[in-house]
Amino acid sequence: MKCIFCGHMESKVIDTRCSEDNTYIRRRRECLNCSQRFTSYERVEIIPQMVVKKDGTRQPFNRDKLLNGLLRACEKRPVSLEQLEMIIDDVENLIRNTPKHEIPTNKIGEFVTEQLRKIDEVSYVRFSSVYKQFKDVNSFMEELNELINKKKL
Ligand SMILES: [Zn+2]
Repeated sequence: MKCIFCGHMESKVIDTRCSEDNTYIRRRRECLNCSQRFTSYERVEIIPQMVVKKDGTRQPFNRDKLLNGLLRACEKRPVSLEQLEMIIDDVENLIRNTPKHEIPTNKIGEFVTEQLRKIDEVSYVRFSSVYKQFKDVNSFMEELNELINKKKL
């Protein structure tokens, strides 16, 4: 565990204890370089949340990947990181609530675009185009025109 004070990679554990509810272990560590003390926590990993891709293969749901996609869609838009984190939390809850803890990628795409639509239309269109939620170019253009016309009114 990297020392938070000097960055040294080695430390010794001087105290280990379980939390009251036994959900995590707290370790008091001492840096072997600067001798400063810090605490690390060890948690049991919760049930992995899986994503089923179009070809049927599965992979763990990746928060960072989705967040990066969202950040790109919301670039220079009035959307906060907190709002995006909340969408991703909801996606995680969605997966957790399925019987097998897995969800197809297109369902995630649909859900996220719907949430984004409520927050910011430009980000929504950008995200949709990236994730190809529109069946074809025509339906994408229709959606775009609809938004543009709405703005004019
Ligand atoms: Zn240190």
